[in-house]
Amino acid sequence: MLTCKQASQLVSQSLDRPLSLPDRIRLRFHLFICDACTRFNQQLNKLRIAVQALRGNIENDSAIQLPLEAKARIVKHVSDSSESNQH
Ligand SMILES: [Zn+2]
Repeated sequence: MLTCKQASQLVSQSLDRPLSLPDRIRLRFHLFICDACTRFNQQLNKLRIAVQALRGNIENDSAIQLPLEAKARIVKHVSDSSESNQH
């Protein structure tokens, strides 16, 4: 019987590589009885679909590129706000 921690680890691993059959069966069974992990699994699946769609769009359309300057601004903004939160 999987714990919620083990189940969520399997869900995360399934994003990177296919799970083995025994793992899939154990995870299925846990999801069947556990609402929290079912929601976690659904959220990660939605995320995976969104990421795949985004990747597909970027690969299909080379015009979509985040300018490096914009990226640097975002990074700076995030690090600035996290620093100010600490003080
Ligand atoms: Zn669970």
